[in-house]
Amino acid sequence: MKDNVFQTAQQQIKSACEKLGVEPKFYEVLKQPKRVMEVSFPVKMDDGSVQVFTGYRSQHDDTLGPAKGGIRFHPDVTMDEVKALSMWMTMKCAVVGLPFGGGKGGVKCNPKELSMRELEEITRGFTRAIAPIIGNEKDIPAPDVYTNQQVMAWMVDEFSRVKGYTDYGVVTGKPLTLGGSKGRNEATARGCFITIREALKKLAIPMSEAKIVIQGFGNAGYYLAELMYNAGAKIIGVSDSKGGIYNKDGLDPVALLGIKKEKGSVIYGNGQQLTNEELLELECDVLIPAALENVITEINGGNIKGKIVAEAANGPTTIKGDEILHQRKILVIPDILASAGGVTVSYFEWVQNNMNYYWDEEEVNSKLEKIMVDAFEKVYFMHLNKGVSMRDAAYMVALERIIEGLKYRGI
Ligand code: GLU
Repeated sequence: MKDNVFQTAQQQIKSACEKLGVEPKFYEVLKQPKRVMEVSFPVKMDDGSVQVFTGYRSQHDDTLGPAKGGIRFHPDVTMDEVKALSMWMTMKCAVVGLPFGGGKGGVKCNPKELSMRELEEITRGFTRAIAPIIGNEKDIPAPDVYTNQQVMAWMVDEFSRVKGYTDYGVVTGKPLTLGGSKGRNEATARGCFITIREALKKLAIPMSEAKIVIQGFGNAGYYLAELMYNAGAKIIGVSDSKGGIYNKDGLDPVALLGIKKEKGSVIYGNGQQLTNEELLELECDVLIPAALENVITEINGGNIKGKIVAEAANGPTTIKGDEILHQRKILVIPDILASAGGVTVSYFEWVQNNMNYYWDEEEVNSKLEKIMVDAFEKVYFMHLNKGVSMRDAAYMVALERIIEGLKYRGI
């Protein structure tokens, strides 16, 4: 049975609160979102019929600043999933020290079966429906699974129509011409790359000898493959929703992207085809789940061979799977840390929107570098110092900040 990610998020927060030894009232405050909105809205489809779509926006916490987090378009979106993802966003923003809380949204739909016009209408309908609770100072959406800068541009446009003026700060991950930030597209991958580079140093594995396996070839997976490849690592396995490809001599991500564009999947690349499940169990130094939730579980946890598991996706490891990785002394770079690069550059984008002054890419990347290295060091130190897993350590770093904020605010 598929693990309930909402309960997973609750358990992760609970475990870290207990290890920090804080009063139970803090867990009581943080164990559920402050506000969850469910909306439904009609969309006229290309064939003339009307279809009603359901969407959600969850705002978990705003102690440290406005809620922040992406919007996903996926057939499996549920309220529980969106709630969990919003909790992870609170932790993600706090672990890297951003002045944001956590939010997340989603629309239950299948973008692969929709025309551009239908996708635009869904985006606009959803934006109008959640307009009362989002905004530059309230809650700032961004791209997530199957949403991109075009979707963000439609959101800005629709929200600005509702407001009567252009408000760039309402979403991040926008196109450069509409208030986007340099470096945002690659930011999740770049942040993850930095944490992997630091983790490899701790294990004394040279980048040039590192064998990498990546599950997922979307925004995070693809750019990560490119960054790792350019840094001299060997990408031996890659997959997408259709399956995986393995080549012990290494795969070239740019060539794979071309194949995916031409033939629809990376599985037609130069190598041996395998399933997503087989891919996760390949012999490697760094395993990077960069797709969806619940892929490392109690069933395959014992067979994972990566020395480092870097979670570029949100919630790829179940609670039981995580216990197994911890027992087996695999160094896990937990999602809230490994995938924090995207929201960090989202924060830079929002700052630039509010200043109406834009930085060059070098400035963005050097600020990201500093934040990611500092956060990695803090988490790694907590992990060694308190003898806890990297995941507990990351939650503990995040929760210390949130709980201090709650105390000052006075709950
Ligand atoms: N969807 C991304 C994440 O899960 C980015 C969120 C954001 O930039 O607000 O971290």
